[in-house]
Amino acid sequence: MAFEGLTERLQNAMSKLRRKGKISESDLKDVMREIRLALLEADVNFKVVKDFVKTVRERALGSDVLESLTPAQQIVKIVNEELTKLMGEEATPLNKAPKIPTIIMMVGLQGAGKTTTAAKLAKYLKAQEKARPLFIAADVYRPAAIQQLQTVAQQVDTPVFELGTNVDPREIVKQGLAEAAEKKNDYVIIDTAGRLQIDEKLMQELKDIQAIAQPNEILLTVDAMTGQNAVNVAESFNEQLAITGVVLTKLDGDTRGGAALSIRAVTGKPIKFTGQGEKLDALDVFHPDRMANRILG
Ligand code: GDP
Repeated sequence: MAFEGLTERLQNAMSKLRRKGKISESDLKDVMREIRLALLEADVNFKVVKDFVKTVRERALGSDVLESLTPAQQIVKIVNEELTKLMGEEATPLNKAPKIPTIIMMVGLQGAGKTTTAAKLAKYLKAQEKARPLFIAADVYRPAAIQQLQTVAQQVDTPVFELGTNVDPREIVKQGLAEAAEKKNDYVIIDTAGRLQIDEKLMQELKDIQAIAQPNEILLTVDAMTGQNAVNVAESFNEQLAITGVVLTKLDGDTRGGAALSIRAVTGKPIKFTGQGEKLDALDVFHPDRMANRILG
């Protein structure tokens, strides 16, 4: 479960305050120090932590919190609001094309959960709006990749357009889009190649596919368990591709939560979904306010 440590530490800090009743400026300083350490320990980006603590302190000092009868409660409220803001305030829906098909390009490093998430997304769209998506298998570097996509596609009852591994992915995407136009699919989900690390050749290929497909959504999958590394990956992909959103996978296995709390602030791009397990229905719309409530316990 994500945020275990953070929740516990924040609750401890707050209950110390509660026991005091009225609090002084130095009590506030102490609690801010504990919040700062708790966030750093949860692997939240250093600069994000700094800005967060500064904002909370300024709001607490500026708004008669110390004179109030329930200072601890008010500080919890401020922390809750600022955590929500940090993660983007409201859930951000998928971008839709004005005319079908809406094209979603899945990108991310190998192993982050791209193919699994593509299938989860198809299942979600089918359940939500009876969508008829088409997958395009554009990862030609690992023969197993197409097979894997076909396996999960079958589980979510969605067709796959593929031309094997000997055709250039750009060409596959072109032909796949033609197929989608002919079959009147309302969504196209392009499964692109991943790499173990970001490299120039991959980025160029993704940029070319982006230019060909003009996707409405470029969804980056990053693995929550990799913490700040996920944040760095998101920053790099965003610089190169101008992603439109992030899917934070494996949140079920992430005990710290640093990526969830940093990605929006660092990249300016919203987390749109989270992956909460290996099963194909384990995809959740990301709600910053609910996440903030969960963090505060
Ligand atoms: P890709 O290389 O980016 O396409 O990654 P895959 O889709 O093959 O996923 C890599 C591994 O992560 C697989 O074993 C998936 O079952 C697993 N996985 C993906 N998303 C999640 C998630 O949200 N939670 C958990 N626990 N495992 C996940």
